[in-house]
Amino acid sequence: MKLDEGVALSRFTTLGTGGPARAFARPETLDELEEALAWAGERELPVATIGLGSNLLVADEGFDGLVLKLGGELAEATVQEERLLAGGGATNAVCLHRVRAAGLGGFEFACAIPGTIGGGVWMNAGAYGSDWATILERAQVVDSDGTHWLTPGELGLSYRHSELRHGQVVAQAEFALAPLPEDQIKANIARLQALRKAAQPTNKRTFGSVFKNPDHELTAGRMLEACGLKGHRMGGAQISPRHGNFIENAGEARSADAVALMVEARRRALEQFGVELRHEVEFLGPLELPPLG
Ligand SMILES: Cc1cc2nc3c(=O)[nH]c(=O)nc-3n(C[C@H](O)[C@H](O)[C@H](O)COP(=O)(O)OP(=O)(O)OC[C@H]3O[C@@H](n4cnc5c(N)ncnc54)[C@H](O)[C@@H]3O)c2cc1C
Repeated sequence: MKLDEGVALSRFTTLGTGGPARAFARPETLDELEEALAWAGERELPVATIGLGSNLLVADEGFDGLVLKLGGELAEATVQEERLLAGGGATNAVCLHRVRAAGLGGFEFACAIPGTIGGGVWMNAGAYGSDWATILERAQVVDSDGTHWLTPGELGLSYRHSELRHGQVVAQAEFALAPLPEDQIKANIARLQALRKAAQPTNKRTFGSVFKNPDHELTAGRMLEACGLKGHRMGGAQISPRHGNFIENAGEARSADAVALMVEARRRALEQFGVELRHEVEFLGPLELPPLG
């Protein structure tokens, strides 16, 4: 397996920002994945896995470790009876195509989530009342200690959260679905896609929701809209004029611009609503939000 140095991670994030990875590899089998983890272990380098980078903000300084992007066998998806068996690197789009063709329903909600199976496990991704935890039976997690099949409970899946840590790689996952006529699946997908298109910027470079919805009558998006932040720009990044909880790359954005917007958004939400917003987007590299107050 080839290891590259200094690969620009901006190529692998949907926002299109982020500095280089010290080392970058694309394992295609479990053996190659174990080899990559051992390589990093011998050098005491941290390891992070990326999917489609659709929920990822990478520091402009990059990541001083090994970044893995799963391919080959680890990005395939097949259907067996009423189960979807997918590699951690398989895209949600490919998985949805497979289950639709097999007449299995229950995964339609993922039509609005532009990521991979592994990223979905890490985030417990979800939409329209469903999430990974609803349909996931078990996920195969590989780390420097070996390979373990974990259930949603063992993964600690809750709202946009798992207990997974960098260095733990979701190599494969199995989902339980239920038979549904293909026409019905298609109709469900069309309905959800129309809802999404009406509410969110679907043709811009973003990383999805910036903040988790707070325990409040307003969603994070509505709250930031009420703070007058829609369209607010800092450097090359702006809060979407369409949805207050999205940041767009409006030009030559850097990750620092997105962070500056997040700092401002948190400050205003605290000032106006007394709410401390927590970020949903995952950080990679030396990035953090300063404490409020
Ligand atoms: C337009 C748009 C709409 C979106 N809508 C939604 C939505 O409705 N609901 C929702 O939940 N999300 C949404 N998202 C966010 C994002 O698509 C999801 O969180 C998705 O599950 C992330 O998957 P990914 O493969 O891109 O992960 P990445 O963004 O690449 O990574 C996210 C995290 O997962 C980890 N990770 C990725 N792959 C693996 C793996 N194989 N093993 C271990 N760790 C891994 C990464 O290290 C990182 O910490 C949206 C994003 C965009 C751009």
